[in-house]
Amino acid sequence: MKKLALHWKIIIGMVLGIIFGFIMNTVDGGKGFVTDWIAPFGTIFINLLKLIAVPLILASLIKGISDLKDISKIKSMGLRTIGIYIATTLVAIVIGLSIVNIVKPGNGMPQETIEKIKLKYENDAGVTDKLMKASAQKEAGPLQALVDIFPSNIFKSFAEASMLQVIFFAIFVGICLLLIGDKKAKPLVKFFDSLNEVVMKMVDLIMLFAPYAVFALLANVIIAFDDVEILIKLLYYAFCVVGGLILMIGFYLLLVSVYTKKSPMWFLKQISPAQLLAFSTSSSAATLPVTMERVEEHLGVDKEVSGFVLPVGATVNMDGTSLYQGIAAVFIMQVIWPEGLTFTNQLVIVLTALLASIGSAAVPSAGMVMLVIVLESIGFPAELLPIGLALIFAVDRPLDMCRTVVNVTGDATVSMIVAKSLDKLHDPKPKEWDDNYDAVK
Ligand code: ASP
Repeated sequence: MKKLALHWKIIIGMVLGIIFGFIMNTVDGGKGFVTDWIAPFGTIFINLLKLIAVPLILASLIKGISDLKDISKIKSMGLRTIGIYIATTLVAIVIGLSIVNIVKPGNGMPQETIEKIKLKYENDAGVTDKLMKASAQKEAGPLQALVDIFPSNIFKSFAEASMLQVIFFAIFVGICLLLIGDKKAKPLVKFFDSLNEVVMKMVDLIMLFAPYAVFALLANVIIAFDDVEILIKLLYYAFCVVGGLILMIGFYLLLVSVYTKKSPMWFLKQISPAQLLAFSTSSSAATLPVTMERVEEHLGVDKEVSGFVLPVGATVNMDGTSLYQGIAAVFIMQVIWPEGLTFTNQLVIVLTALLASIGSAAVPSAGMVMLVIVLESIGFPAELLPIGLALIFAVDRPLDMCRTVVNVTGDATVSMIVAKSLDKLHDPKPKEWDDNYDAVK
């Protein structure tokens, strides 16, 4: 019998998880059951993915750079990657701002709905937490983000999974391996090559558990929804964000087909397990190992490109997040601060949403923290901030799930483009978890 493709298994797990969550929402003690007995399996899965992220970046980037055999290629790969990332993010923000200005989802929201949302969420722990995190972020100096790339203790960077620091270290080691010559570099290169294979195999094994894990993750998301009435009131705004995100996916497919001449459907099929996990976990960082596996083994991008472009992208390239920030900022203004809706302010939003998406952590709901900074940059009144966040809080989680899919798809698209431009895109050679199983069982 033909095996069911992984993405179908994951989709089935997701649908069952959603149905189960809804059922548990109606059953007495159902929520507690999901929290105590189902959700931990989702957490185990995310922990396993995070566990392998650092060794994977380290191994694939060091091996990849030492394979490049040419330091100047690192520079051109770096410049191209950053340039394309900035360009796609700008496209995302412009799409977001255009939609929100044309559709105007915030105009005409009844005062009574605003009051209701205010009452329910203004002092919610989630909202207060985002405001506190944003003010901590703001206190850092202008060059702090740059300083943060350079680690003083690499073991601390590993322990905290500071992605950019690990990338810096891996590139540094890779360059030095090139500089000491083949003979001396060989043992370490072989070590990292082997480590890379091991971690990739770990991804295959962890993914066997994915259909069950997404069941747990989605059931847990569904039990958190309690006020359906408010959700419905925000549907107009939510549709704007989702519509923009779909346009963005269309833009990526166009780029892939025009530039790499690959079929968009083929691209989507190969990358879909990573997209589904992005949706289920709301975290590009947790999805990273799967994105790397899909891009290398199923899209055919060489390690030296994917090992650099994807981890950097997970941290700095968040097109979905910036599109959302543009729409959310203007939506909030339409509802509670219409006098701030000037053309200049929208231009400032383009710039700050670009910087904010670079600065957002690749974890659930980080985009909302940085939204505070976007709003503050246009002089949004501080006393209205909690109400602003309260307005969009109820639908943040589902939108976070959707924007994370776009963030991950954007990274995969750019890695295809950079690989093609450097002649590092080849026919993929997918590996299965049990390729050598018969020999060792
Ligand atoms: N959850 C998103 C990510 O990990 C970030 C965000 O928009 O909140 O990519």
